[in-house]
Amino acid sequence: MSDVEFRQLDKILLLAAESSRDHSRGGRKASGNRGPCAFSVVSAPICVDRRGEHCAKAIPPAEVDEILLRSRDLAERRRVWEASRQPGVALKRRSRNWRDLRNRVAAELGYSSYLHLQVADYGMTVPEMMQLMDRTTRDFAPLYRQLHASARRRLAARYRQPVPRRMPAHWLPERWGQRWPGGGRIGQPGEGLRGKSPEWMVRQAERFSTSIGFPALPATFWERSDLYPLARDAGRQKRSGSWTVHIDRDQDVRTLLSLGPGFRLFQVSHHELGHAHYDFAYAHPGVPYLLRDGANRAFHEAIAELIAAAARQEPYLRSLGVIAPGRPMDATERLLDEALDNGVVGIPWAAAAVNLFEYDLYEKKLPAEQWNRRWWELVARYQGIEPPAPRAEASCDICSKAQLIERPAQYYDYALALLIRYQLHDYNRAQDSAPGSAQLQLLRESAGRQMVVGHDERRRHAALAATAAGQNRGRSQLARDAGLLPAAHRVSGQGECRPAGGLGVRLRCWERLRFPAERSLPPACPSVPAARRCVALPRHPRG
Ligand SMILES: [Zn+2]
Repeated sequence: MSDVEFRQLDKILLLAAESSRDHSRGGRKASGNRGPCAFSVVSAPICVDRRGEHCAKAIPPAEVDEILLRSRDLAERRRVWEASRQPGVALKRRSRNWRDLRNRVAAELGYSSYLHLQVADYGMTVPEMMQLMDRTTRDFAPLYRQLHASARRRLAARYRQPVPRRMPAHWLPERWGQRWPGGGRIGQPGEGLRGKSPEWMVRQAERFSTSIGFPALPATFWERSDLYPLARDAGRQKRSGSWTVHIDRDQDVRTLLSLGPGFRLFQVSHHELGHAHYDFAYAHPGVPYLLRDGANRAFHEAIAELIAAAARQEPYLRSLGVIAPGRPMDATERLLDEALDNGVVGIPWAAAAVNLFEYDLYEKKLPAEQWNRRWWELVARYQGIEPPAPRAEASCDICSKAQLIERPAQYYDYALALLIRYQLHDYNRAQDSAPGSAQLQLLRESAGRQMVVGHDERRRHAALAATAAGQNRGRSQLARDAGLLPAAHRVSGQGECRPAGGLGVRLRCWERLRFPAERSLPPACPSVPAARRCVALPRHPRG
């Protein structure tokens, strides 16, 4: 059997194991209930005014998000925040059954737990992944503490309250505390979006993609995607949030969005179309059908987020009038927004709180009666956040997080994606020879060379062939094979830089490159000039 055949059979096993949660007879039996499916529970209107058994007022989850983003009324914020946790009661028992089922499936395939099965997709063991996440959390902790203190002061002033020691969860502008848009200020550089239709927003995202070398999306993408909020009489429910799916691993890619006004959805449009383009890049006869799913999960997310990050750059926003003409931008505030909304704040959430909870859930088989207490212990310790009042153990507050239902035991993906996105960003900047040009320009210049898709067909085919080969040898090699990342370099004892494979090694190298003074790097790491090593990366002492 060839390596490619082995890899595809391995993929069949992994896909079967993942699907067990929904489709197997055992899954239905294990879920043990005939109620609405989990997506319906998570996407259903949230009761914000309950009178006994009767709900006097229910609002869609998107409206909850809007209140938490805008409202300055702490009583209203607390009421809405607590209401948003209601689905956790209904989902707790199912989550325990799903956990047990997933672990049984993983055990039959020879893994210690379902977490082990998912981590194996990176060619890593659970201890390796947990150590990487722990180190990442500690690296970011000093900067996070400073951001946390700054946001506490800003929000206390906003709500006219004393500065708290921990951040009250209902003060934050988002349900989970995973992003802190605005950082205590209301509004983002989106005033120029007023009057722009949702369709303009997503079509502009495509114009951005084609401007940097991606091919136009096919007509079927626009016909089959579900991009706009449902009409009240639509007769169906729609999942909140956004999603892009490669339906047939060929030419059928679809995006689910609920586009409305606002800068956030402008960014999300770019992000989701980034996923779509990356999916299309794998719809190629040179890549075996079963392996057409990207370098790895985190890399997919990093590509999408790189596109979204490029779309946040000031020159691009000014060229569209999204930043009003003549409006000055405070560079420090913009960096703060980036760290709070799209960067540093996501690390203690993804790498520590959720990751450690899922570790306890799957590896340690944490009893369900301890879930809520453990969850809030982790949130307090790593995110410095606490609920407005002690939470009852009858519920499971994190169980209604859609990703934990749809993509269980994969949350470290988001932390890895953040690190890879910075690497890609760094690489794009390192390619730039024109001082002062924006990341948008860098992407445009380099798209054909570094992205799997591009104008150069020969290059594209070579990259895709390398992709298949990369998957065969272990998907962590893919990025380098496809030219998507600079060759990683390992510092040997003799002080040389030489290429090294594997995501873990590359990330460790990345970490070394971030702290050249501490690590006394030898002077020549050829693909990353010294002056570029710390671009866009937080610099702080190790915690
Ligand atoms: Zn994404």
